[in-house]
Amino acid sequence: MMSAFCQRCGVPVEDGCSLCPGCELRFGLLLFGMGLDVTPLHDSLDATLHPGGHSPTRIVLAVPQTPIRLDVLDLIDILDSTGSELLRRLDGVDALDATVHRPMGLRDALFRCAAHPYLASLADAGMYMDVFVRLAAKIDRVLEPPERRREIGVCELCASPLTAGESDQLVTCPVCKREQSVLAVKLHRLHALCFDTSQSASASRIAKAFTGSGIPLRSNTISHWAYRGKLAPAGKQDGMPRYLYSDVYKLVLAPNTDGGEARAMLRKALLQRIATILARRLTE
Ligand SMILES: [Zn+2]
Ligand SMILES: [Zn+2]
Repeated sequence: MMSAFCQRCGVPVEDGCSLCPGCELRFGLLLFGMGLDVTPLHDSLDATLHPGGHSPTRIVLAVPQTPIRLDVLDLIDILDSTGSELLRRLDGVDALDATVHRPMGLRDALFRCAAHPYLASLADAGMYMDVFVRLAAKIDRVLEPPERRREIGVCELCASPLTAGESDQLVTCPVCKREQSVLAVKLHRLHALCFDTSQSASASRIAKAFTGSGIPLRSNTISHWAYRGKLAPAGKQDGMPRYLYSDVYKLVLAPNTDGGEARAMLRKALLQRIATILARRLTE
């Protein structure tokens, strides 16, 4: 019987469930990932360590600093209390019940929540998932400070700028909370660049934009096209020729060029994007 809706994404769910199977899996993976973040977070407490990363390097400061980063301490504290609260709710144990004594570290508590059989049927699962998504974003900012994050494009729904770390595959919009794949956002930006006939850049920059969006294109290929007269420079900057994104895009798409591999990847990426949009339409 379908009578309820997923509290996170709104699709119909089975009776007694608060989350759909997809959101339950995402929530579980999120909790599991946060469990793995506990040790790096503790490592980041030391203010004399260079912030971020899983193998931080020590730096020598000219001026003595607060030895402990209070923002990280607060974050661990909130994560600890929220994590054990969720586990108590899942286990159905009262907070004041002194007979239940479960010595367990924060990491193990988060792991237990992640794999809990009642995760999808907890009445407040959607609310808890929202809270943990926000906490995860804060943890990301500590472990991967803003200067390490790159702007990858804009949100497909509200056009807010989105940033992502090197290894991120999904990004959540800070404004409308829509979750989208990093690759789709980059591809979207690449398309915007390619359909704007005023956007130009150096060969290496264009190659990077294509390659970063999952369409391998070498800057040598672009220079080679220019050398053979297939591509006209749109001006120069610092002595380096600049090309229009739209011209390169045409060559990547055009038959009888040596952009065969890039063309195949572009076609695949476009098909994937269309399939995602269709799948979303079907579930809406
Ligand atoms: Zn859902
Ligand atoms: Zn948005």
